[in-house]
Amino acid sequence: FNVYGAPVIGRHGNWLGIIVVTHDITKLVKLEEIRKDFVANVSHELRTPITSIKGFTETLLDGAMKDPVASKDFLEIIQKESDRLHLLINDLLELSGIEREGFQLQISNVLISDVIEKSMKIISGLLEKKNMVIVKDIQSNISVEADADRLIQVLVNLLTNAINYSKENTTISIHASETADEAIIEVKDEGMGIAKTELPRLFERFYRVDRARSRDSGGTGLGLAIVKHLIEAHGGKVTVDSELGVGSIFTIHLPKKSA
Ligand code: ADP
Repeated sequence: FNVYGAPVIGRHGNWLGIIVVTHDITKLVKLEEIRKDFVANVSHELRTPITSIKGFTETLLDGAMKDPVASKDFLEIIQKESDRLHLLINDLLELSGIEREGFQLQISNVLISDVIEKSMKIISGLLEKKNMVIVKDIQSNISVEADADRLIQVLVNLLTNAINYSKENTTISIHASETADEAIIEVKDEGMGIAKTELPRLFERFYRVDRARSRDSGGTGLGLAIVKHLIEAHGGKVTVDSELGVGSIFTIHLPKKSA
């Protein structure tokens, strides 16, 4: 609490009392903490690939370049780390764009089945690499007033996670249904699952259950934060249910009419 006090003096200089103003700054302090955490996280996430790029470039210049096999290995690492930086910066810009006041969705009438097809096409290479399949159960003709590209982005993020956090040869299921005023899309995997205790923080920026694994899979730690923001911008919500070692289900509830 910030507390300010001031005496109240009457017209004849007589003492009338004191006015005390208290200001609850708990929320401000919390916001400031979140901001500091975020800056620290971003710095760390940027520093790791840059350290690696710098180290391997120096090693190459110090003579490793004469060894063609080592050179190729090192250049591949440099390329991978540059790709990671690129992804991270894209996701950061994306997130700050969505959070900015005045962010606008490009609303049109969107067929859920179309959005699902387009998202599946985008992740098809990744899916094949792990020899995984997607089973669809989509009620026909569900349409919503939404931003199609943003919905595709949401589904691509969820599907990419479903692939990255699952073993090879497993199945992903997409289920789409509707109620009178909502479209509901579920993305279910048979992957590693998430402990119940981790679920409440899952949609926070940079929150990861397993940092090393997420990095290996090329994740930025921002995918679910972007999903949450985009769905909430549509007036919807996203939930998760998961069981460790069994799999996860991410569910999107989307209002059919835009607000
Ligand atoms: P990342 O880039 O690390 O995947 P996300 O924001 O997309 O970042 O996800 C945050 C964390 O949630 C991941 O690091 C992972 O630990 C966990 N996670 C997300 N989706 C799944 C899933 N389908 N199965 C298991 N864990 C998941």
